[in-house]
Amino acid sequence: MPERLTYSIQGIDCAVCAARIQDAINTIEGVGSTQIDLMANRLEITSDRTIDAQLDQQVRQTVLREEPHASVALLAGGNTGGERKAIKFDIVVPLRILTALLLVWAARSWTGTPWAFLLYLLSYAASGYDVVYRAMRNIVRGNLFDEHFLMTVATMGAFAIGEYAEAVAVMAFYQAGEYMQDLAVDRSKASIARLMDIRPESATVVRDGVRLTLAPEEIMVGDVLLIKAGEKIPVDAVVISGNSTLDTKALTGESVPRAVSPGDALISGCINGSGVLHAEASVAYQDSTVATILRLVEESGMRKAKTERFITRFARYYTPIVVLLAAAIAIVPPLFGPDTFSVWFYRALVFLVISCPCALVISVPLGFFGGIGGMARMGVLAKGGNFIQAMAKARTIVFDKTGTLTKGSFTVSLIEPVAAGVSEDELLRLAAAIESHSTHPVAKAIVARYGKRVSEATDIEETPGMGVAGTVGHRHIRIGTERYVQPDVQAGKTSQESAGTTVQVSADGILLGSITVTDTVKPEGKEMVESLRTLGADKLVILSGDGARTVEGTAKDLGIETFHSRLLPQDKLAHVERLIGEQRDGGTVLFVGDGVNDAPVLARADVGLAMGGIGSDAAVEAADVVIMTDDLSKIPAAIRHSRRTMAIVRQNIVFALGVKVFVMALGALGFASMWLAVFADTGVALLAVMNSLRALRHK
Ligand code: ADP
Ligand code: MG
Repeated sequence: MPERLTYSIQGIDCAVCAARIQDAINTIEGVGSTQIDLMANRLEITSDRTIDAQLDQQVRQTVLREEPHASVALLAGGNTGGERKAIKFDIVVPLRILTALLLVWAARSWTGTPWAFLLYLLSYAASGYDVVYRAMRNIVRGNLFDEHFLMTVATMGAFAIGEYAEAVAVMAFYQAGEYMQDLAVDRSKASIARLMDIRPESATVVRDGVRLTLAPEEIMVGDVLLIKAGEKIPVDAVVISGNSTLDTKALTGESVPRAVSPGDALISGCINGSGVLHAEASVAYQDSTVATILRLVEESGMRKAKTERFITRFARYYTPIVVLLAAAIAIVPPLFGPDTFSVWFYRALVFLVISCPCALVISVPLGFFGGIGGMARMGVLAKGGNFIQAMAKARTIVFDKTGTLTKGSFTVSLIEPVAAGVSEDELLRLAAAIESHSTHPVAKAIVARYGKRVSEATDIEETPGMGVAGTVGHRHIRIGTERYVQPDVQAGKTSQESAGTTVQVSADGILLGSITVTDTVKPEGKEMVESLRTLGADKLVILSGDGARTVEGTAKDLGIETFHSRLLPQDKLAHVERLIGEQRDGGTVLFVGDGVNDAPVLARADVGLAMGGIGSDAAVEAADVVIMTDDLSKIPAAIRHSRRTMAIVRQNIVFALGVKVFVMALGALGFASMWLAVFADTGVALLAVMNSLRALRHK
């Protein structure tokens, strides 16, 4: 297992710089991989050697060497931060811009005197000293072609040809633009983060009759929590007393409040709507729903979409190419053309100003970040931008049956003893003794019918997708599918398969009988199938471990033609691999599942979607996207939202590049001033940032 270190990193605002830092850290011995998530301000490294203070030191030094303005802080392992960061309104930059403009104004009124030049120099220094300094520093280190370099060359060039006022104004304008961009990006990051802010601040715990206000992390399993109206549920808990309604909107996107009364489970992160509740903490904060979700959301930025990685790589080539073009414009035409060198030189400078790829580089990850935020708002958690991109191209959608297409809340409909001398009660008792140790939906139904959980069985062994075995009073009991029980049976005939899921029960190689449980298809299933077809997902498949009759029934109910039954986890995997192999034109395969037996397939599919409510931890862990409400209608909604997000990202790319190419052309032909170039650049960046925020909304 490689070890992982996570840092909070501030002061890096451009993806190209982030990529450079990543490369530098990767050269440190022992570092396996490095990821920087600009949206969450996190840096994560994995290492195959033990992470020690020395490595930590090297990482910090490397970051500061590459970006002296940055600050790095180690986050404790498993930190589920969700830290709130106040937006800083930096007053220095506006003051500097104002000073520079005042000095230019003064210089203009002294035109012709030696004072004028001095004042221009001063105002240039006021507006751009840090830009020039950073450019110099990067040149010394061999990092040519960053935006500071471009601005320095362009403005100094303007100085050289006597356009003093313009040089200062362009620098001041550039600073103002950067400042506004930073503000816009920070604000949008903050507003997305706020949406996902489900982190409880504190909790009231009653210990020995004393009320204590504790941090959620300090709550222990079994603590009695006092939750007042309007407060967030701090950890997953069970209601002891009180009645209330829960606002689950932040987690599930459902606006209808859910009623809770004693015995009901409370999900952390939800808000207690009305009454006062006393509840018993069932897990510690780290294992609670809220911590799990925050961790998933925070890590989501580390999984970058292809488009995102492409843009960063693109930016590395784009700038040098534009600089070369600018050089060509300054040198070649004057050799032949009518205009003088200084005219072409100015045009080349315009080129340099427009060559900064910032608008592009910031708006693409912001678009994905907004897309993930918008999905979280409807109760669908995507673990990375890459899954949004893959989901947008969903062509084949594969479903597990039990718990995914059906409610997974079984009721026992038939108890059928077949062995002589075995009563229904005896059969149920033995089955319940074994099933008390399983959490499978079938197991829950049998235990519920028996009336209580019993723990007398020993040597329990569960085979996912098959059944369970164990010992009850020296008798070896097996319960599960025919395929699971039959190899053990020497005596006893099989009963006919009936409607519903039938499990067989054997004791010491003798078939005792069977228990049939029935489940119902989720009501929104049919509509989901229709929506998916309209969205162009032309192949829908059911893969189930259940018997043929039952699977066929479900498939018919929903209008899905392709289905396979009696599958083991490895069979499901084989089917999905075959379907992935059949894809053409970049279409992707989605797999939707809930069980432990689905975990391998969830991991293998292009996008694995897990049911977050009914789903096992293994499934939620292995999945790429978690549907918090188990609601099937969220699947077409999520696909639609992914497509919308991709469209926004594409708009940003086309718009930013389009405007740049247009202004470059104008500049080369002499129709654009440096002013227009800066204005276009900043304007595009701001518009792209605002456009990205649209990805937050969903219908
Ligand atoms: P699906 O693939 O449709 O979600 P599962 O893989 O969860 O269904 O289960 C497949 C079959 O395995 C069930 O229909 C049931 O017959 C059997 N099975 C699995 N676990 C158990 C269990 N704990 N007790 C009894 N039967 C089980
Ligand atoms: Mg299942």
